[in-house]
Amino acid sequence: MPARRIDGQAIAREVRARIKREVAVGAIRPGLAAVLVGENPASKVYVRNKRKACDEAGIYSEEHILPEETSERAILSLIDRLNHDPKIHGILVQLPLPKTIQERRILDAVAPDKDVDGFHYINGGKLVANQDGFIPCTPLGVLALLEASNVNIAGAHAVVVGRSNIVGKPAALLLLHHHATVTLCHSRTKDLIETCRLADILIAAIGRPRFITKEMVKEGATVIDVGINRLPDGHLVGDVDYDAVFEKAGAITPVPGGVGPMTIAMLLSNTLKSAKWFYEKSSHG
Ligand code: NDP
Repeated sequence: MPARRIDGQAIAREVRARIKREVAVGAIRPGLAAVLVGENPASKVYVRNKRKACDEAGIYSEEHILPEETSERAILSLIDRLNHDPKIHGILVQLPLPKTIQERRILDAVAPDKDVDGFHYINGGKLVANQDGFIPCTPLGVLALLEASNVNIAGAHAVVVGRSNIVGKPAALLLLHHHATVTLCHSRTKDLIETCRLADILIAAIGRPRFITKEMVKEGATVIDVGINRLPDGHLVGDVDYDAVFEKAGAITPVPGGVGPMTIAMLLSNTLKSAKWFYEKSSHG
């Protein structure tokens, strides 16, 4: 039987509408600052989309677009200013940064309580320890999609393919904290096909077009495709061979229109969460 298509666009729209309602009645206006260094065209599009999403939700936003040759010191000084700016509750540094910049140094300079991307090592540590902090937006979006689609996570076998710090690893931790039995796979995994076939929930975060084929998917499994790959002909496809897997899976996200829209919705959600924390802290002295 063909799969149920998980509509990330529609679920993200609902999340954004809820955020907009909360912002409208909130005590303070949440504010997000985006820092972009260099001329990466894809990054410019992402930052523009984030700004548009903020405007629609009533969130204040500002962009800091710096030339490619900006020094690490100048970026750190901007981040320090934003860390102390009361209008700003969330700071995102658009990746990748130019090669001359030490990415880790910049990410760890963002105040952990404004780190709405969840890339600071303190937030990484909180996620490992299952303490409340900021969780990276894409894995958070994956979890929100599963929950909105009423997929049973507790007790399920979840297989995550890809172990990056921004997607695979935090996705595996989140699923573990929601009581899945988790297997985390990567490029050195032996028997990848057999391992994927055990999954009740299969998360693909690899960055290889249509890598997950029908033979890797268990009948009725839920398949979440994080991948975004541009083919030479300009088409955008995920890490899953969608048409074939659709015939076998129980539920599946499309690309585009699956995880992508959720990532931005979760960024807004983290920014709102940060603003609420600031308000609580300031109103309790
Ligand atoms: P990375 O390149 O950082 O990580 C890719 C992971 O896939 C690595 O852990 C790598 O293993 C693993 N991998 C690569 N080849 C294989 C293989 N043959 N078999 C098994 N595992 C393999 O990518 P990201 O995590 O940053 O992104 C993954 C995908 O998600 C990309 O397509 C990206 O564009 C997309 N993405 C989408 C977002 C969204 O909003 N929808 C947001 C962020 C990313 P190893 O560690 O051993 O090298």
